[in-house]
Amino acid sequence: MRDSDLKFFKDMLLERKVQIRKNIDDAMREIESLKDDEVGDEADHASVSTDRMIEQAISAQQSRELGEIDYALSKMQNGGYGLCEMCEEDISFQRLKVKPHARYCIVCREIIEKSANKN
Ligand SMILES: [Zn+2]
Repeated sequence: MRDSDLKFFKDMLLERKVQIRKNIDDAMREIESLKDDEVGDEADHASVSTDRMIEQAISAQQSRELGEIDYALSKMQNGGYGLCEMCEEDISFQRLKVKPHARYCIVCREIIEKSANKN
């Protein structure tokens, strides 16, 4: 991969990282403010719990993506970024543009997803 391409994806990853941090912060703040409202009546209480579970699920998912981004950034430093971890072919530029932290090419991704679905 060319240095200029590498930089392009690095900027994308770093930008995404900032965005995710912000999303997590927002979710946390939301959870905090819900806690303050907790002394409502019973009906409100139920929906507050559901909202909180959703927020927590969102932040768990975002944390996972944050980990994947850090992993991609470390691959940029150590070499191997943009290569599929399964077949070691280049991951297509188009795919990386959509998902710059992709670890597998589209073909291997499908194989992995299919075998995961069998469980
Ligand atoms: Zn592959």
